[in-house]
Parts: sequence; C-alpha cells; structure tokens
Amino acid sequence: MHDELTALAERLAAAGERPGAPCPDPVNAAMIRNWTQALGDPGDWSRCAPPAMIQVWSMQGLAAADAAGSVADGPLRLLNEHGYTGVVATNCEQTYDRYVRVGERLRSSMRFGGVAGPKKTAMGEGYFVTWYQSWYDAAGERVAEMLFRVLKFKPRARRAAPSAGGRYPLRPAIGPDTRFFWDGVDAGELRVQRCADCGTLRHPPGPMCPACHSVKRDFVVASGRGTVHSYVVHHHPPVPGRTPPYVVAVVELAEGVRIVGNVNGCDPADVTVGMPVRLVFERMDDELTLPQWVPADLPDPDPDPAPEPRADALAVPLTPTFVIATALATRDFTPVHHDTALARAQGSKDIFLNILTTMGLVQRCALAAAPGAALRSIAVRLGVPAYAGDTLTLTADRTGPDTLAVRGAVSLGDHVTATVHLTASGGPTDEEDAR
Ligand code: ZN
Repeated sequence: MHDELTALAERLAAAGERPGAPCPDPVNAAMIRNWTQALGDPGDWSRCAPPAMIQVWSMQGLAAADAAGSVADGPLRLLNEHGYTGVVATNCEQTYDRYVRVGERLRSSMRFGGVAGPKKTAMGEGYFVTWYQSWYDAAGERVAEMLFRVLKFKPRARRAAPSAGGRYPLRPAIGPDTRFFWDGVDAGELRVQRCADCGTLRHPPGPMCPACHSVKRDFVVASGRGTVHSYVVHHHPPVPGRTPPYVVAVVELAEGVRIVGNVNGCDPADVTVGMPVRLVFERMDDELTLPQWVPADLPDPDPDPAPEPRADALAVPLTPTFVIATALATRDFTPVHHDTALARAQGSKDIFLNILTTMGLVQRCALAAAPGAALRSIAVRLGVPAYAGDTLTLTADRTGPDTLAVRGAVSLGDHVTATVHLTASGGPTDEEDAR
C-alpha cells in the first residue's frame, strides 16, 4: 500500500495544476452579507469580499455537494481501503495576493501537494495528505492560494474498559429504597434513612426499621462529619476506573451510623482508626457523583480557578443556530455541521463548526486587534472540534511588526492556533482606492 500510495502521489504531484469546478457565482454582495451576518463580522465589506471568504466562492452548493471531487480523492480512497478510515483536518493556510471586489468572477484550480507517513500520531497511525487550491481573476492573475492538509489515520481499537476521564465503570444499583440517597447526592446532601415512627437512623437504607419493624421512613441530612471506624488499603486486584493504592473505609458519622467510602486527599499510610474525616462529593463522570471522605483538616481546594477572561478576547457562543448559519453561509452542506443526529451517529458529541467559519473568525479576531490593516495570510493549525453548546474564545497577540498569533479555545482545549500576516494599511477601503 505504501509504495502504491507513494507512486500515486508522485504521479498526481507531477500532473500539476488542474482546473477546479467553475465558481458558481461572481463575488457578490448577497453572499457577503449572509457571511458577515452569520459570523457576526462588523467589517465594512461593501466593496471587497472578506479575504477569509475566498474558499466560499468556489464551493459548489447543496445540489453539487457530493459531486465535488478533490485532487486528493485517489490517495484518500486508497488509504480508506487499507484501514486508514479516520480523517481529521490539521492545517489550512490561506495566502491573499489581493482582496477581491464585488462583481469579479473567479476561477479556481487545484494541485496535489504530497503524502507524508506513516506517522504515529495521538489519533493512531496515519498519513498526512496535502493539496492546494488557487483562485484567479479574469485576467489570469492569482488572487489567493490555500494549502489544505488532512491526517488519514487507522482509528485505535476501543478499549474494553473506559480509561480515566471516560465513564466510570462501576455504577450504583438505584431502587425504590435507595433513590432518596442518590437524589441527595445529586443535591449535594448525604441523606441518612430514619424510621418515621421511632426515629432510629439506619444505613444502608432498607424497607423496615430494625428497632420497631415499622416500614414508614424518611431521612435526615448528615452533617458530613465522621471518624474512620475501620479501613483497608486496596492494592490488588485492579478495579476498573481506580488507581491503587487507595483507602476503603467504614466511616462512623457524627449521627451514629456507619457508611463505606474512600478516604482521599492524603497518603493511605496516614490514615488511622479514629481519624476525623469530612464529606466531599467526588465527580466520577458526567452522570455519577459519589460521597467520599477526606481528612477533616484538609483545606478546601481553591474554588475552580477560572482563568480571568481577557478584556480584548472575542467570545463567540456556539449556538446551534451559529454553527448551522455559518456552515450554510460558507456554502458548506456537510451534514456534521447541521444534522445533530447524524453527527452523533458518526461519533461526534454534537454538530461542530466548519473550517471555513474558523478561518473567518480568525480573520475577525485579527482585524479587531489590528484595525485598518490588510490581511496577507492566515495559517491555521486545527485542534479539538468546536461543538455546538460551547463557547469559542479568540485572542490575538502581536508576535512581530506584521504578525499576530491568534488562538481560539473551547472547553476541550485549543480549537485553533493561527499565525496571521498583515500589512498596516491597505484594508478593504484603501485597497479599492489604490487601484
Ligand atoms: Zn422504628
């Protein structure tokens, strides 16, 4: 496969540029307005198109979405056939020779770049596939070029037991007798069952009072103070979702009943019988929280040290409407950007932002940091997906007289890191006047 792929790549690269499908429409005000409204771009684009919109002019639209072939189709298909079925875009680099004006008719061409691999990556073993697209004006002068790179990878086999950070494998069995307890945990309370007739407390919960045999019951909320009545340090066997050694203790509550839990927050060797402990709630995964114990004198951890948002940060709430409106305004009808059920069926958490929009938001952030400047290039490295429901926070930092580093972060980490080259003047209005 490797030799076949290399030979194919060399053949394609040697073939050079070939015309792409014709751009369906000239550069026009209606599509620019759709784009600026969807992306919330405040710029004056009455005469020139936003440079980061360049790829939109050659997008083929909904009817032709499936027919649009890429110069890289052959290598991508070959990789698919050999198990490299995963794909993730890694780089998008656009260079703008000049801004294009409303009314211009563009044409585009593509050329194959190359393949690099096999490489071991965090996603699995894969090949990087690179191709280029260029846009030309009526006179045959190039107005923009784009490098696009994807990683085609062999998806790793899923592990039988979820690793840390996934779903905690041990789940409580919740029934009519114990639901009040878990409802309490969800509410941040440790609830202890009480006989509604004689007032005797009991734990674990049960249907009948051991003292008076009444089946009437309610509960009290425990103070969360207790002492270690007994404990073991668990070393072996391995328990999924837990890293040994850890302490399993019987804690005697101040209220008098005993409950089993882990004692965290200290070296297992420091745990002693009689040691005062206090209640904490440990979040195991998105759905499960467990009541646990720490030494009573353990200070509270710092409340979530949320990073101070920068005053100049551009925070973009990724509502479903935003994700869908921007996908359509960039003429990208790939279902993962507008069809939630399909996106989930393909293993995504939700619909997510498309790359053409990411490029546009990088432009918006860069021009907010350098008003009046003209963009010369945007080179983007793509990170984690920007899912609907999240917030994309973009910041720009000057790294040289003509360069900005733009970073766009979501709750999962960096969605985009970009290097933007610009010139101090020559923005949309100057550009027109200079001609
Ligand atoms: Zn009773």
